[in-house]
Amino acid sequence: MFLYNTLTNRKEELQKSRKPIKLFVCGPTVYDYSHIGHGRTYIAFDTFVRYARSQGYKISYLQNITDVDDKIIKRAAEKGVSALSLARTFTRAHFDDMKKLGVISVTKYAPATKFIPQIVKQVETLVARGYAYKISDGYYFDISKFKEYGKLSKRTVLQAEDAISRVDENAEKRNKGDFCLWKFYKPGEPSWNTRLGKGRPGWHIEDTAISEHFYGPQYDIHGGGIDLKFPHHEAEIAQQEAASGKKPFVRIWMHTGFLLINNEKMSKSLGNFLTIRDFLKKHSALILRYLVLLHHYRSPFNYTETTIEQAENGLQNLRLTLERLRFIEHSSKAKKSFEIKEFITAADRDFYRAMDDDFNTPEAVAALFKLITPLQNKLWLLSGAQAKELSRFLLKKLELLGIAFITSPAPLKARTLLKQREKLRGNQQFIQADGLRKKLSALGFTVEDTPLGPFLWRTNQI
Ligand SMILES: [Zn+2]
Repeated sequence: MFLYNTLTNRKEELQKSRKPIKLFVCGPTVYDYSHIGHGRTYIAFDTFVRYARSQGYKISYLQNITDVDDKIIKRAAEKGVSALSLARTFTRAHFDDMKKLGVISVTKYAPATKFIPQIVKQVETLVARGYAYKISDGYYFDISKFKEYGKLSKRTVLQAEDAISRVDENAEKRNKGDFCLWKFYKPGEPSWNTRLGKGRPGWHIEDTAISEHFYGPQYDIHGGGIDLKFPHHEAEIAQQEAASGKKPFVRIWMHTGFLLINNEKMSKSLGNFLTIRDFLKKHSALILRYLVLLHHYRSPFNYTETTIEQAENGLQNLRLTLERLRFIEHSSKAKKSFEIKEFITAADRDFYRAMDDDFNTPEAVAALFKLITPLQNKLWLLSGAQAKELSRFLLKKLELLGIAFITSPAPLKARTLLKQREKLRGNQQFIQADGLRKKLSALGFTVEDTPLGPFLWRTNQI
């Protein structure tokens, strides 16, 4: 399997080994419900890990939870609750959302507040090695001391100084881009009494303290949204490589693309902020997963009503194909009229080729449609054995993408109506038969008259 490495700007081979591949993905800052952008990133990595594991890669998947941070403290103050209890509430909500989205591949979640001793130790190491210094409100990392600062985001130290995104402000800092490692206590903020003094960790240091604790100073893959590349991931590289003196901190950096809503950046001020919860009030979790996979993980993900509709149609099409195949499989009249083996073999090859080429899920999905679309009008000409083979092939590939359809047999009432309709049709009572078709339609079923007999399917079930 080849993966695009944001650090080297090249596709690089992921080697199989007996030891697990160590993957770390940045978790959410839990000050609000997780939004659709989190959904995109975590579904993408979940599917990547599921797929890689199915292909024989052993993967350890570690994810932090930022449960102490400026954003949490600010929101808690607005709400008049304690920062740590607000963080607990939204950590639980996040796990709940992930469960609903079928994100099941994370091996270990690590909340920052459970790793304070490890964070303190790493800051002390950075101070001892001359990379960190103390000023009035905390300990800071001196980016001018780390000569390679900017190597991931391809920025120079000077350019780094224009950073405004979550870089901490204090006039005593040595360089404008220096970021805080440990923040001294301010009234009303959560704090820990440590050797560094009473206070709390900065944002970037928690990730490296956690990853060093579980993985050591070097590991295989670091993932996260592209918006975290600078300064967050740049800061992580600086911290860990400065602390250990070992390079590279991480071999492969994987970044998911930007999330857009109707071509605009999602933000509360634009009024287009969409949480996973709000999405799930209107659509199923399966649609979000499929929608995510229809985009390459590195590409921008533009969320619009049209793309949702496309996703719904695509899923409906797949589900209907599978139901038709099951019907054929159990029909005594089905017999082979043409060969499909070579088409299945070609689709199989195209599917794996796409998945192994930097996890190209849209092309993998396209390979399935390239197989089934031309067959739609000829499905009834397949034998039961062929239908079974095609159905198995599709189910296996969908399983690799984390897509499973829940199907249940039609209720007795619908099956009885269908039998009665057949009888009426046999007696040439077409008007009455049509009445029963309408009744079935009201129950949510469509009747399709096929060369193999009437086929009943649920009209809308995604
Ligand atoms: Zn992070």
